[in-house]
Amino acid sequence: MLSHRCPVNCDFCCVYPPSVDRLSVGECAQWIRQAKKSGRFKYIEFTGGDPFCEYDSIVEVMRGASALEYAYGMTTSAYWAGSREETLAKMKTLKGLGLVRIGISCDPGHQANVPISNVRMLADISDELGLEVTVSGTFDDPSKNLETYLKENGFALGQNIKLKTRYILPYGKAEKKCVGGNMRKYGLMADLGNMYCQDSSYYAPSIYPNGDVYPCCSVANAASPLVMGNLRKDGFDEVMLRVFGNFFFRVIKREGFQGLVDICEKYGCSIRSYLPDMDEICDTCDLCITLMGNLEARELIERAMSAYGIDLLDDIFDALSPDSLKT
Ligand code: SF4
Ligand code: SF4
Repeated sequence: MLSHRCPVNCDFCCVYPPSVDRLSVGECAQWIRQAKKSGRFKYIEFTGGDPFCEYDSIVEVMRGASALEYAYGMTTSAYWAGSREETLAKMKTLKGLGLVRIGISCDPGHQANVPISNVRMLADISDELGLEVTVSGTFDDPSKNLETYLKENGFALGQNIKLKTRYILPYGKAEKKCVGGNMRKYGLMADLGNMYCQDSSYYAPSIYPNGDVYPCCSVANAASPLVMGNLRKDGFDEVMLRVFGNFFFRVIKREGFQGLVDICEKYGCSIRSYLPDMDEICDTCDLCITLMGNLEARELIERAMSAYGIDLLDDIFDALSPDSLKT
């Protein structure tokens, strides 16, 4: 996130209050070089705010990084995509610098301030250019979804374009305005056994406009205690080591929250009494930040993860020992 700038004013925006900070082109360029050198990052995503408020800076950053051949994506409300010529020109420039994916928001909240024709224009042009296009709608009622909303607006999109329906969660401005809801309201399955941290196949550390790094790209970051450090103060390698070297994140991605509870139990650090009422939480991230925001639960988790990590390493060393290699 270069900045939280955005001209749209959704009442469920998760970046609220928006930061007044801004990353410089030089900082982004330096961290992208370090990311490449670390060998851990294959893809960059620009979000915000709306990253198209930082269009010129992003072009400068990606132009400077062109030798690194990074694929990247952007997420936008399409507030700026009113003219076909301008939209085509901008998207061609971005694609020439490695853009492979565009995410576009489309729902009653965004369309209070952005003409829905902009969404269609940007989606169609991006599709024509061969980009991966995802249109996402965020609703506050489980009986509503993006497909129906598009139909109601006489809107048809190309078959390559992916549609995603989400629900408003009470983070950021939505928390202040009491918009959004929990698992019970949305009729979602509040089952510990089905709760995993995003996708286990990748990590998505997020860099905020003040340099703070979160381990993930979650709308819950507005309320999250999981700041892993600050790139302006702590250095890129040090902060990323805290993200990638943290067993808690590995466990909740691979084993899920049921796995976390079981592992803590196994090492004598039970966190069962700290689990919230599952119907009352908003989503997996709410469960995560509730546990990690409780100092006692966090200490138990960290103790269990250290013991678990040592056992895993012992297993690996045992498997690699000359005796086991002979068998
Ligand atoms: S949700 Fe997106 S488009 Fe809406 S105000 Fe926030 S950053 Fe802007
Ligand atoms: S579960 Fe925790 S670490 Fe994973 S995305 Fe949500 S807040 Fe981030």
